[in-house]
Amino acid sequence: MKASIITIGDELLIGQTIDTNSAWMGAELSKGGFDVYRITSIHDRREDILNALNEAAGKTDVVLITGGLGPTSDDITKQTLCEFFNTHLIINNEVLTMIEEMMVRRNFPMNEKNRQQAEVPESCRVLKNSAGTAPGMWFEKDSTIFISMPGVPHEMKHIMTEIVLPDLKERFTSQTIIHKNIMTYGTFESKLAEILTDFESKLPENIRLAYLPASGIIKLRLTATGSEFNSLSALIAEQVSKLYKIIPEFIYGEDEESLEMAVGKLLSSLNKTVSTAESCTGGEIAHLLTSIAGSSAYYKGSVIAYDNIVKTQLLGVQDYIITKYGAVSENTVREMAVGARNMLKTDFAVATSGIAGPDGGTDEKPVGTVWIAVDSERGTVCEKKVFGNDRLTNIKRFSLASLNLLRKQIINH
Ligand code: AMP
Ligand code: MG
Repeated sequence: MKASIITIGDELLIGQTIDTNSAWMGAELSKGGFDVYRITSIHDRREDILNALNEAAGKTDVVLITGGLGPTSDDITKQTLCEFFNTHLIINNEVLTMIEEMMVRRNFPMNEKNRQQAEVPESCRVLKNSAGTAPGMWFEKDSTIFISMPGVPHEMKHIMTEIVLPDLKERFTSQTIIHKNIMTYGTFESKLAEILTDFESKLPENIRLAYLPASGIIKLRLTATGSEFNSLSALIAEQVSKLYKIIPEFIYGEDEESLEMAVGKLLSSLNKTVSTAESCTGGEIAHLLTSIAGSSAYYKGSVIAYDNIVKTQLLGVQDYIITKYGAVSENTVREMAVGARNMLKTDFAVATSGIAGPDGGTDEKPVGTVWIAVDSERGTVCEKKVFGNDRLTNIKRFSLASLNLLRKQIINH
């Protein structure tokens, strides 16, 4: 069961519109047991559309197409489909009535363009679109099903969920695909791949492993393909438990769990609280923590100690510490964490001080350097990390590193 996706629209190729349709359709097809073979984005150009259709015909069981169905002259998908399937446009009365009713409801007069939207290729099966005006179209040629849908994401999703996905499911003897994500933090991709070489080589033939890194978090995705859900789930569970044995120090969660979610879960379960004292991260850690619903149970607040005055006057960092060691130092960040925990009366406090860049680096403390401290009743742990040159990436990476240090301290508690 193979599928491919073609998205049509000039705006997709010049970066004006992000092709979210492909991502959504890819995920849904994959959930439905289809192997997504190729995604292609092309211009609203006759020859490009014909080429893409020819290219897809016979190669996959299903081709999903979106875009180019609007009523204006830049949208030419419908005419080109007629050419490809050797058919012509006819008025579909059911679609015409739907459009007329919609125009009455919206209090707009019908015009020629609206009438043209009720034209469909004679040989297609019309897929009703009660979310908009352009219907979807289902064709079959050379043992391939071609389904053309509007580019407007909510209209495409409507036709997919109401008609296309259920019909495809019925048509194809179902293959099952299960994905399971294991979330890791604390190492880099090539290192993880090295550690997992043996694990990978012993994976059953129907399980694949993918590494998906983003800002220091590496998502390990296991994909199992087979015919029966329960046995596949058991097979995946077996591999997951192996991973927990091989890399326990890096795994912090599963599925789409973020570090802030993992920290929140731990604090809630232990009934503990946290506060933050942020210099270079400027509140990003507070933002991440408070983006989790229910965080008021464990998150007390933050001191954004960007200027040294705030570090000394609010958090109680001693002047001589900053003068002697600098604001970006173990000593400063340690006192910031202790100060925040005292002031905000929490079980844990996290502090950051670093150089996000692009300026301000020295040979000794280059851009990307951060000192992180976590204070708790067991004392203060500090960690130095050095990341790259991009300011916003650094702020994100500093924050994730801080959340991970906090997470480890909570676990060791
Ligand atoms: P169309 O069916 O070509 O008239 O597309 C209508 C609108 O849908 C466009 O203006 C885009 O904003 C949006 N759109 C088209 N294709 C995509 C796509 N692949 N992903 C997300 N949005 C899209
Ligand atoms: Mg278009």
